Amino acid sequence: MSSIVSLADRINALEESATLGMTKKARELAALGHKVISLSVGEPDFKTPKHICDAAKKAIDDGFHGYSPVAGYPDLRKAIADKLKRDNNIEWNPENIVVSTGAKHSLANVISTLVNPGEEVIIFAPYWVSYSEMVKLAEGTSVIVDGAFDNNFKVTPEQFEAAITPKTKLVMFASPNNPTGSVYTEAELRAIGAIVAKHPNIFVMADEIYEYINFTEAGHFSIGSIPEIKDQVITVNGVAKGHAMTGWRIGFIAAAKWIADGVEKLQGQVTSGTNSIAQKAATVAFNGPLDEAYKMKEAYLRRRDLVVGLLREIEGFKVNMPDGAFYAFPDVSYYFGKSDGTTTIKDSDDFSMWLLAEAFVATVAGTSFGAPDCVRISTAAADEQLVEACARIKNSVAKLK
Ligand code: PMP
Ligand code: GLU
Repeated sequence: MSSIVSLADRINALEESATLGMTKKARELAALGHKVISLSVGEPDFKTPKHICDAAKKAIDDGFHGYSPVAGYPDLRKAIADKLKRDNNIEWNPENIVVSTGAKHSLANVISTLVNPGEEVIIFAPYWVSYSEMVKLAEGTSVIVDGAFDNNFKVTPEQFEAAITPKTKLVMFASPNNPTGSVYTEAELRAIGAIVAKHPNIFVMADEIYEYINFTEAGHFSIGSIPEIKDQVITVNGVAKGHAMTGWRIGFIAAAKWIADGVEKLQGQVTSGTNSIAQKAATVAFNGPLDEAYKMKEAYLRRRDLVVGLLREIEGFKVNMPDGAFYAFPDVSYYFGKSDGTTTIKDSDDFSMWLLAEAFVATVAGTSFGAPDCVRISTAAADEQLVEACARIKNSVAKLK
């Protein structure tokens, strides 16, 4: 019997992560000697700040080598509770916080903890690739609600309300958003919150992983700070993006105690407490200072302006202005049906693959983000690389007729 035949149905039904899949392809081409510019994975190109690295070295020397408590070390959970109060106006005790192996793990934990087979999860689209697959693993049903390009890809409160059914269990979205960079304003989140308040059986998963990469004047607003729905909101965040710590794998949830307890129970059977050294480093990250995080944000803002400006010069590209995160998300549907004489571009998957083969620029097709007309381009790369990539894209698409 081949190994494919013996895989469980849930794995056969699961899509490969498009972000990681495209990054793998880019690495393979680079290993063959091609000058690939990889703008596929969403990953800061900065190093983790030194004071955070120093804390990890100290943790090794101080002997933090053993199993940690399943929900995380007490000083880390306290640092997170303090951070939530300081930055987000959310008051939870350390017992409401569970630390996991990256925000991705935190999101998956919550979905598995809350969603029963057949229950509906409303996902605001465009959405991060893994949301719908995590729901699939939990045997829930994703209900995708599309944010319109003209509303900067944001879902309106009216659209959200119209998607609610008696089976709705959870609504989830990221602000700032991956892949669009859109930021929901306080007014928009309060309007969404007012609808949630009318449905005590519905929960909100607020993915705030790009919190510190927010270019708006008003800054970040956390839906979890609205008192009427405090117990219904699960706030998810981590250190990957804001502190340039993707490889350290620390994320957390902050939620009502019964939800936190459920996640802790699940984690206790599946992974145990996450890496002890990374937890000590993350404690320092959460306690601050945030100077380095703000410096990185300024660089991302400069690159956003650079890339959006260059992409808007390309014929047929429709480009929104991201208010946060580090992605550009042009609508490239102008090129669907066009051909370079050999390959005809049918959709964004074709476009992204063609661009990789033709220009050696790795992007991610919008299909897996629930936005099949677009491609995602990470702007977390050196300015010269971004300029070179945009020039390659411009020259390549000129061949499509
Ligand atoms: N949410 C969003 C919107 C993301 O883009 C990512 C990408 N890393 C994650 C969650 C997961 O973050 P982490 O690396 O902490 O698992
Ligand atoms: N969140 C990043 C991205 O969207 C990292 C890759 C991943 O975990 O999917 O590219």
